[in-house]
Amino acid sequence: MSSLQDAVSCMDGYDPDALHVDRAREVIRGLVRPIRGTQRLFIREALGRVLACEVVSPIDVPGHDNAAMDGYALRGCSLSAHGETRLRIAGTALAGRPFEGRVGEGECVRIMTGAVMPPECDSVVMQEAVRSAGDAVIIPAGEKPGRNWRRAGEDLAAGQTALATGMILGPAQLGLAASLGIAEVTVRRRLRVAIFSTGDELCSIGTQPARGQIFDSNRYTLFGMASRLGCEVIDLGVVRDRPEALEAALREAAENADAIITSGGVSVGEADFIRPLLARLGEVLFWKIAMKPGRPLAFGRIGDAFLFGLPGNPVAVMVTFHQFVREALAAMMGIDPLPRAPLIPAVCTDALRKAPGRTEYQRGILSEEGGHREVRLAGAQGSGVLRSMACANCFIVLEHERGAVRAGETVSVQMLD
Ligand code: AMP
Ligand code: MG
Repeated sequence: MSSLQDAVSCMDGYDPDALHVDRAREVIRGLVRPIRGTQRLFIREALGRVLACEVVSPIDVPGHDNAAMDGYALRGCSLSAHGETRLRIAGTALAGRPFEGRVGEGECVRIMTGAVMPPECDSVVMQEAVRSAGDAVIIPAGEKPGRNWRRAGEDLAAGQTALATGMILGPAQLGLAASLGIAEVTVRRRLRVAIFSTGDELCSIGTQPARGQIFDSNRYTLFGMASRLGCEVIDLGVVRDRPEALEAALREAAENADAIITSGGVSVGEADFIRPLLARLGEVLFWKIAMKPGRPLAFGRIGDAFLFGLPGNPVAVMVTFHQFVREALAAMMGIDPLPRAPLIPAVCTDALRKAPGRTEYQRGILSEEGGHREVRLAGAQGSGVLRSMACANCFIVLEHERGAVRAGETVSVQMLD
C-alpha cells in the first residue's frame, strides 16, 4: 500500500466516495509542508512576501524616554500637594532637539510630543492645562506625577521579536522593520504553481472557437486566485484529453513547480481515463466530496509537487480553490497562522434550497447597514455560472447537516477577499 493511501485509510470517517469537506481539508493539511529556499530582500521588495526568519529588534522602541504630549516636563516632587504650582521655564525640548541643561527644583521645560525627557523629569503636564505667566507657568492643583511619560523600550525592547516567522509582510510590517533600522529581511522564495486546463472543448482567448467549443476561463480565475495569494504562476495552457498530452503536461509541471492545479477531467466519466496515468506518474487520490458545487476532486503527489485536480465547472474551480487549495498553498508558502476566512453570521433575505448531507457554497451579496448584516443570492447558482460569481462578494456556507433555508433565517457567510 502506498503512503498517501496509508495516511488516509486509518482516518476516522474517511470515505473517498462521500468525503466530508472537513475531512478532505484535514487530509490535505496533514500532508503539505512548507517549501525550502529563502531570499534576502530589501524591505520594499519584500512587500507581500512571507518572513522566513524572525526579526529581532536591535534597539529599544522608543529609543529614549519621551513626552507623550505637548506641554511642560517637570519633576513630580515640584508639584505642590495642595493648590497651584508655579514653575520657571528653563528651556525647550523639541522632537529631535533635546534640552541640554539641567532642570532644577521649581523649574520646568517646555516640551513637544516625542522630544527626549530631560533625565531629571518624570512628568509632562499638557499644555492646555496650564496658565502662562511670563517666563513661568502656573499648574493647577490636582496634577499627578508620572503622567504623559513614555519609557524607552515601552513598545518593543531590544532583543524582543518584532516580526514572527510566517508573517506576511504588509505595509505595517515594512514600517516596523524600517523603524528598527532594518533594511533587509529573509523571506521564503515564491511558491511556484503550474496550472493547466483540460478538455477537447476548450479554446484559448485570442483564437476562434469552433462549433461546440467554449473559451477556457479556469486558467484565468486560477491565475487570479494563486497570484493574489503571492504565488508565481506557470501557465501551461490548454491540454487536450489525450493521455500523451496530459502526461507531458504533468511531467513538465512536476519538474518546474511546487504545486500543480488542473481543472477538468476528474468527473466520474472522465476520471477513469486519467486514473491509470496518474497512478503511473505519482500517487493521487480521487474523491467525491459531499459538497456542492465541486464534488469530484483529485489530490496527491507527482514527483515533488502536490497535485490538485479540480473539477471543470468554472464556479466549482473557484469554490474548491477557496475551500482546499488556498489553505494548502498558504501552508506550503510557510504562512503562519494560516489565513482562513471567518464565518460571519448574516440574515438571509432569500429562501434557499438545500438538501442535508453535503456542504453547499452559494454565491451571495453581503451588505451591512446600521450593524445589521443581510445576505442575498447573487444570481443563478448553476456550477457553471460565472456571472453570479463575478457579482458576489461572499459565499453563503450551508453546513453539511442543514436543510432548506427560509427567508429571514440566519446563515454563515465567508467573504471572498
Ligand atoms: P469536466 O470536469 O472536465 O467534465 O468539465 C465540466 C464542465 O466544465 C464542462 O461543461 C466543461 O466544458 C466545463 N469546463 C471544463 N474546463 C473548463 C475551462 N477551463 N473553462 C471553462 N469551462 C470549462
Ligand atoms: Mg473535461
